Amino acid sequence: MRYRWPDGKQSAAVLSFDFDAESGFYFREPEKARRSLGDLEERRFGPRVGVDRILRLLDRLKLRASFFIPGWTAEHHPAECLRIRDAGHEIGAHGNVHEALGFLDEAQEERVMREQLDILQSRLGVRPAGYRSPSWDVNVWTPALLKRHGFLYDSSLMGNDVPYEIDTPEGPLTEVPVQWLLDDAPLFRHVYGATNAIADPGRVLQMWSKEFAAMHPENGCFVLTCHPFVSGRASRIALLEDLVTSMRRTRGVWFTTCEEVARWHASRPAAKPAPAGRAAATAPRASRPARAASSARSGGRAPARR
Ligand SMILES: [Zn+2]
Repeated sequence: MRYRWPDGKQSAAVLSFDFDAESGFYFREPEKARRSLGDLEERRFGPRVGVDRILRLLDRLKLRASFFIPGWTAEHHPAECLRIRDAGHEIGAHGNVHEALGFLDEAQEERVMREQLDILQSRLGVRPAGYRSPSWDVNVWTPALLKRHGFLYDSSLMGNDVPYEIDTPEGPLTEVPVQWLLDDAPLFRHVYGATNAIADPGRVLQMWSKEFAAMHPENGCFVLTCHPFVSGRASRIALLEDLVTSMRRTRGVWFTTCEEVARWHASRPAAKPAPAGRAAATAPRASRPARAASSARSGGRAPARR
């Protein structure tokens, strides 16, 4: 067995939602955000419609999910954030104004971290166990920063498809890994002028179902990342319902939250040898931040995410 899950489960599955609302647009394109009602309204579909559709879906499915919420969203859409909290879902940190960390030095990142934690505490009364970096952009010093601020886990990296650990000077940080294949934005998010076509929900259902079917015997941790302004659209809610319904036909799947996965990883009976290996937070940065930077400079014509 490649990774041991609780109660003899064979794999784990998490639905996660990054509730960005307008925050990422304000960070990446502040000039345009002052005048483009079109772009703002596209994102406001998330708090206005998407979140409640998702909450109703999760209620129908009797499923707890993980929501990662920027401080900006908690300040500007508090009612929706409180409904998420009061429905019993996990709330994790997701930047303040959705700052892509590649744009920040360590001191700026520390300040942004304090700001977002203060807002989540004051607005929602939440001290998050988990962190997901905006746009999955992580600096080599970020894991140690998360440890210093008491986070149990990060969920922004792609170095495995089961939980693993990032070594930091502050001790190991649990990683609940993500991957592009299981993100709604590259598949569904349309950016005017970009060459990516909007995906057919049927095709996405097939892709995600195939990934799940292949990860399950590998004892994988299937973490789906969706955005209320993207996946809150009617046919995509139906897609999520179909996906979970079909996944539930497979025996031995632990449907849970990122936090529960991280708690299991931290507390599980010592699996020896460590099945997922360990990674040091010293790897060179991936190419994605550079693409994000050029996208911002070019006015966001590239298929920018979130
Ligand atoms: Zn985001």
